[in-house]
Amino acid sequence: MNRRIFSPDEVRPADVVIIGGGVAGMMAALHAGGRNVVMLGKTAFAAGGSSPHAQGGIAVAVGSDDSPSHHAEDTLVAGAGLCDSEVVRRVTADGPRRIAELVGRGATFDRSPDGTLDPRPVVRTRVSG
Ligand SMILES: Cc1cc2nc3c(=O)[nH]c(=O)nc-3n(C[C@H](O)[C@H](O)[C@H](O)COP(=O)(O)OP(=O)(O)OC[C@H]3O[C@@H](n4cnc5c(N)ncnc54)[C@H](O)[C@@H]3O)c2cc1C
Repeated sequence: MNRRIFSPDEVRPADVVIIGGGVAGMMAALHAGGRNVVMLGKTAFAAGGSSPHAQGGIAVAVGSDDSPSHHAEDTLVAGAGLCDSEVVRRVTADGPRRIAELVGRGATFDRSPDGTLDPRPVVRTRVSG
C-alpha cells in the first residue's frame, strides 16, 4: 500500500474516500481491494481519536468456555439499555472471524505455550432475576 500525504488544496481523484484514520478507517482501507483510497483526517495519520490509546486487549469470544452469544448477552446487560441489540449481536458474532483476519494479516497477540491465542479470563456480567 502506497502512502502519501496531500496538502488540503490538492485535487485528488479517488475511488473510495474514508473519513477518519482510526482502526475502523484503516480496516476499511484494507478492505478496499486495491482501489484508489483517500483517507481524510483531522490529525496526523494514526495520531488522533481513540485508536492510539487502546492497548488493553480486544473483547472477543475466542476462549473454549466462551461464545459470541455469551459475549452479546454480557454486552447488552452492561450497556443497560443503551446498546442497539442488532449491532451488538452482529459485532460479537463477527469478532472471532476478525481476530483470525488480523492474525492472518500479521497482528501479534499473546499466546499460550502451545501456540494458541491466550485469552484473558472473562468476568461475566451478572444478570439478576
Ligand atoms: C483510553 C482508551 C482506551 C481504550 N482501550 C481499549 C482497549 O484496550 N481495547 C479495545 O478494544 N478498545 C479500547 N478502546 C476503544 C477503542 O480505542 C475504540 O473503540 C476504537 O479505537 C474506535 O476506532 P475508530 O476507528 O472507530 O475511532 P477512532 O480511533 O476514534 O478514529 C476516528 C478518527 O476520525 C478522525 N476524525 C474525527 N472527526 C473527524 C472529522 N470531522 N474529520 C476528519 N476526521 C475526523 C479522528 O481524528 C480519528 O483519526 C479505548 C479507548 C480509549 C479512549
